[in-house]
Amino acid sequence: MKPSILIIYTGGTIGMKNDAETGALVPFDFSAIYEEFPSLKRLNVNIDVLTIDPVIDSSNVSPDNWICLAGLIRDNYARYDGFVVLHGTDTMSYTASAMSFMLENLAKPVVFTGSQIPIGVLRTDGRENLITAIEIAGAQIGGRPRVPEVSLYFQNRLFRANRTTKRSAEALSAFDSNNYVPLAEVGVNIAYNMPAVLEPEEAAAELRIADRLGDGVLVVKLFPGLDERTLRTMLSTEGLRGVVLETYGAGNAPTSEWFLRTVEDAVARGIIVLNITQCGSGSVSMDLYETGQRLRKAGVLSGYDMTVEAAVTKLMYVLGKELPAEETRALLRRPIKGEFTA
Ligand code: ASP
Repeated sequence: MKPSILIIYTGGTIGMKNDAETGALVPFDFSAIYEEFPSLKRLNVNIDVLTIDPVIDSSNVSPDNWICLAGLIRDNYARYDGFVVLHGTDTMSYTASAMSFMLENLAKPVVFTGSQIPIGVLRTDGRENLITAIEIAGAQIGGRPRVPEVSLYFQNRLFRANRTTKRSAEALSAFDSNNYVPLAEVGVNIAYNMPAVLEPEEAAAELRIADRLGDGVLVVKLFPGLDERTLRTMLSTEGLRGVVLETYGAGNAPTSEWFLRTVEDAVARGIIVLNITQCGSGSVSMDLYETGQRLRKAGVLSGYDMTVEAAVTKLMYVLGKELPAEETRALLRRPIKGEFTA
């Protein structure tokens, strides 16, 4: 039997084409996908399309949209073998990371993709991204999906979604996964890197999703010149529950008393502080330098080699569970969907 794939179009550049009369960019009707791309019929899959109403530029995406998207995948889970989510590139790594946590017992492929050039423009990168993403979502081996996790396909590379970051506003190769190998590389053939793919813990017929995300999450990026008043004001924000602290290098921060006291005070008030590096690659190691050790002693948790997108969405996901403080910290200390390497 042919695998059945559901394409969910949420918005973004991939969904635009030039109006035949005016030349202006107008939304592309994905429900007429076979008319636009008759060659899709040659793929050995059945395709249905669902367009979110209204479609959005991904800069407008919010956690509420993520809850709707997770619900949509859950509601259609039993009927399809795989899902392709078409999303604007700007925040695709956030949405895809959020899905990796929220689709809790996922055992089918959910492949995110988009494009840098609209699909209706001759030189588009969207056509190849779309066709290969569909092929990957439908790829099976021994009757089981090859990539049963949330992934992101762009320009010949398939990545674990929660390891990705948008790296370029210009290049067609718009995404990177600096701390984790690609799940597949696409040339003449699709070369899957099976040992890198996440094994689902269970293969239940029903998809369990998180339907709440915690708010009160803040990202603080260190820079020389960040002063006490500004940091204190940020960390005293009403309702603040979690901070992703983007530190230097291997997780280092200033050793000045005011800095450490401000962070310690926040931790003492129950605020989670998660340390990730602002470097594009590499990991936090809070034991390497005194500057990192002081943070660990202050109760700051290591985010290891997590991206900011994964750190933010994992914090929201974990805080949304409203668990006792120690359980919250325990969930943050271990990778739950392959989002970091400790
Ligand atoms: N602004 C667009 C979006 O993220 C850009 C894109 O799709 O590439 O929705």
